[in-house]
Amino acid sequence: MEIQKLEFLKHLLRCKRHVYLDHNATTSVSGQVRRQMNHVLKYCYGNPSSLYGIARKSAEIMEEARRHVADAIHAEPAEIHFTGCATESNNAVLKSVSNYFYPKKKKIISTPIEHPSVMNTLEFLKKQGIVVEYCPVDRQGRVLPAELEKMIDAETFLVCCMLANNEIGTIQDIPAIAKIARQHGVLVLADCVQALGKIPIDVHGWGVDYASFSAHKLYGPKGVGALYVKQGSPFAPFMHGGHQESGMRAGTESLHNIAGFGAACQDVDKLLAHTEQIRVLKRQLIRGLKEIRPDCLIHSPEADCLPNTLSVAFPHVEQAELLAMLDHHGIAVSAGSACSAQEDKPSRTLKAIGLSDQAAQETIRVSLGCGTSARDIRYALKVFRDHFAGRTRFVNMITPAQLDETILFDEQVYILDVRPHSLRGKYKGLPNAHEASFVALEKYLPQLPQDKHILVACQGGGLSYIAAYYLKSKGFGRVSNLRGGLAGWKERRPDLYQKYAGQNVTILKPAR
Ligand code: PLP
Repeated sequence: MEIQKLEFLKHLLRCKRHVYLDHNATTSVSGQVRRQMNHVLKYCYGNPSSLYGIARKSAEIMEEARRHVADAIHAEPAEIHFTGCATESNNAVLKSVSNYFYPKKKKIISTPIEHPSVMNTLEFLKKQGIVVEYCPVDRQGRVLPAELEKMIDAETFLVCCMLANNEIGTIQDIPAIAKIARQHGVLVLADCVQALGKIPIDVHGWGVDYASFSAHKLYGPKGVGALYVKQGSPFAPFMHGGHQESGMRAGTESLHNIAGFGAACQDVDKLLAHTEQIRVLKRQLIRGLKEIRPDCLIHSPEADCLPNTLSVAFPHVEQAELLAMLDHHGIAVSAGSACSAQEDKPSRTLKAIGLSDQAAQETIRVSLGCGTSARDIRYALKVFRDHFAGRTRFVNMITPAQLDETILFDEQVYILDVRPHSLRGKYKGLPNAHEASFVALEKYLPQLPQDKHILVACQGGGLSYIAAYYLKSKGFGRVSNLRGGLAGWKERRPDLYQKYAGQNVTILKPAR
């Protein structure tokens, strides 16, 4: 018995700690949500649009969920429409309202720190003739309502502003913005995705016309969003087909997801009650980081900020290095927003609050959640401390300037290209590279040579950093990362890129 206990303790010591600090990207599904979803998946398979008993039960579950979402944001159930995600909710409003007003009115006012689901939709609408103007934000990401008012003119039909920013956590004064818009007869869309469960929401009290939400940010399932449309505000269906969602969104409803969203919203008051605890942990983290690196720069505002969100930069330390090192120690944080994690461009939000490209690329986002404990924060601080004291294991770096023929054609160097498929088609890779999928790296391990120097590359040098750390942890002795990735090499060595890129590339097959 004693020996068994000892073995178990040894096993625990060997187990890597996992500390999830990326709750703005997504959250785990809570027990209550999981139970409700399991129940629906098991027993409630009727189509809510049908008329017999089991279908009526499904319709009832859906209406119950709608009521829970409405209650959580202070709306009427009839004003809630379920969607596939908040990206769909934002698309639906921006496109439908533009369609309603254009060409009589042409202008939307937004901010430069919106989520890509808004930014890229606005870019699309610009091509259709809509005029989009961005109201500047201050260094903390705040929109000044008075500045916004100056931009409203007779052409303006919509103001689109997020309630809380996903990267730095800034909370906007939506009631003031909505008041100004109303005075000018302009509609308001508030992207409330990051706010639900973190700060109180009152769409009726604020007088916004549209608001978007997503279940997976508040311990609900992925793949279901909600759109609030104030009674009487113009809205035309974005998906055509059946008459579901009062004709607003066609397609058989994802009942288990909707039920999960409803269950998550039932917990909103509990989540709000927990935010003070999260705020205290965030303060401990900030204090600890400032002790370790007094020169670190906190971008998240002190006041009017999401209680869980911390955007922080460490001068002269690339975010890729920190992400890789933290991942190696079981800690999940992110660079900017999860949606732009595969881009190599600096975050638009960080640029809009006045950071240089370099400072933006030295920034990481830490977002705490309900499950985050004081022990997690202590562990994270220990890992940061060890890293900055030079005690963590590093991978070697090869700079784009160093990468010449002597390395590219060295028989002892094995080049591993871990770019995602979507980028491989766009840019040629390093000569003699072996292409493997970053997300399934484990399946390529048996084919990688133990006796060679592995040079890992990707588009911008971030994914490859994580991959290089991973290979080191799997016992590969000599592993290097190409700093700045292919983009850096192409910029620094255009002659070599022209001459050799894309030559002799091997596509590796993952083990089954
Ligand atoms: N809006 C904001 C502010 C977000 O943070 C996100 C997701 O990160 C979205 C919209 C998109 O949400 P979804 O993942 O449901 O499409």
